[in-house]
Amino acid sequence: DFDHVVEALLNTTLDVDSLEPDSVLEERWIKEVVSRSGMKFRWARVNESRERENRDAVRRPSADPSCLEPRPPVVTIMGHVDHGKTTMLDSLRKSQIVSTEAGGITQHIGAFLVQLPTGEKITFLDTPGHAAFSSMRARGANATDIVILVVAADDGVMNQTVESIQHAKKAKVPIIVAVNKCDKPQANPQRVKQELLTHNVVCEEFGGDVQAIHVSALKGDNLLALAEATVALAEVLELKAEPHGAMEGLIIESRTDKGKGPVTTAVVQRGTLRRGCILVAGKSWAKVRFLFDENGRAVTEAGPSVAVEVVGWKELPSAGETILEVESEQRAREVVEWRRYEEEQQKLKEEQSAIEAKQQLHLQEYRRERAELEHLSWRQRKSALYRANKTKFALRASERYQRDELILPVIIKGDVDGSVETILNILDSYDAQHQCQMEVIHFGVGDISENDINMAEMFAGSIYGFNVGVTKSIQQLAVKKGVPVKMNSIIYKLIDDLKDELNSKLPPLV
Ligand code: GDP
Repeated sequence: DFDHVVEALLNTTLDVDSLEPDSVLEERWIKEVVSRSGMKFRWARVNESRERENRDAVRRPSADPSCLEPRPPVVTIMGHVDHGKTTMLDSLRKSQIVSTEAGGITQHIGAFLVQLPTGEKITFLDTPGHAAFSSMRARGANATDIVILVVAADDGVMNQTVESIQHAKKAKVPIIVAVNKCDKPQANPQRVKQELLTHNVVCEEFGGDVQAIHVSALKGDNLLALAEATVALAEVLELKAEPHGAMEGLIIESRTDKGKGPVTTAVVQRGTLRRGCILVAGKSWAKVRFLFDENGRAVTEAGPSVAVEVVGWKELPSAGETILEVESEQRAREVVEWRRYEEEQQKLKEEQSAIEAKQQLHLQEYRRERAELEHLSWRQRKSALYRANKTKFALRASERYQRDELILPVIIKGDVDGSVETILNILDSYDAQHQCQMEVIHFGVGDISENDINMAEMFAGSIYGFNVGVTKSIQQLAVKKGVPVKMNSIIYKLIDDLKDELNSKLPPLV
């Protein structure tokens, strides 16, 4: 049965990179396939003993509804420039309804908590404008439950008002309208609400479900009503989270502090964040040394929807990154290492496809050149290409690659025309008799150049130089790219070297 499955796997077209052990594909089968096919699977290289789900830290499955408890809403203020977003945030921060205790100095950490007289809380993200909102969204993160759309009553709906509406709708985040600057004599709140209709924001008085509150951010008028409307909407949304267990959250700001080192502001989405927790975010990890609130006070823990400054990161993770708590420092290091490895693999893959695309381009160019020379013999063609000093690629070589035959691609560089021709002649008479074919993919006169190295790399070939030079930097490039460069000043020695390499590629005699 085991052999049967392995045999079947070997006969299937496998996507090498996606071959991972799972419920269907057992680890022992893959190991066998790997060893029999001689392929180097990414999975096999990383860590054979670890199972996939153990490699990366991931969000836990959703909690049992009975463990969920109501949590405060997280609010972003959006709107057109100069309509009063910053003023509103400042007023909210300074107003009586803010939970700031005497003596606290409000600091900018990217968010702050407001507590209503009735006890309800709201977390405001205080990076105004939709730049922060959309950069988060671009990472697939959504920290916001409710958008407060600020529209100046003397100016009405403007470009960025419309953009904000679009952002909120795209993210499926409900809107509350704050009709601002109502203290101004020329304020016309009614017009604002009518204009909003044309953008599918239907306020309650027009039969819709969007609350619109008339405020003055500057004077602080009606901000309590705005906060109450927010809490009311949060109740409708039934925002809940599990306050216990491992913490999950989002980074809303990150910066390097002279004293504290790498610092992030995190909004807790699930569980409770405590001092001493081990966290991973992106490709960095932290053992939480300190937690600070927006008043610069050290706190020992933060529950769902609360934003706190986290100190203790080894490196600075970026805003928008998910934070997950893991069980140990060892585990955090493993996760980070895995993520780095994955990123590296992704990069390699991209580089590989870039090379392939380039190769394809060269091949096309070669085909075109070849079509032009169709009527000539192979030797005449070679000389024609040689004389024209064009890029020379052997179509035959590329086709053989595709058929996976044994071939040895070589580049010949000589000091003068005559020596190159002599070497090519000798090689022509030689390669026909062997199972492993040699293919001259490029030849020419002059020192070994960067172009030679690149071409050899592209075809996984070797370079043979006769009576030519090679600079140190070219040598280093060859070593870096793993291209063998062999120099000779005696023709028969060069041919011997080539034969040796050719023989080494042949399958062993049985
Ligand atoms: P932002 O670009 O949306 O952050 O707008 P600001 O908060 O910087 O406000 C722009 C200007 O409008 C400032 O001069 C504020 O003083 C003024 N402003 C903001 N809110 C009000 C308000 O409710 N009433 C009046 N009269 N002026 C306001």
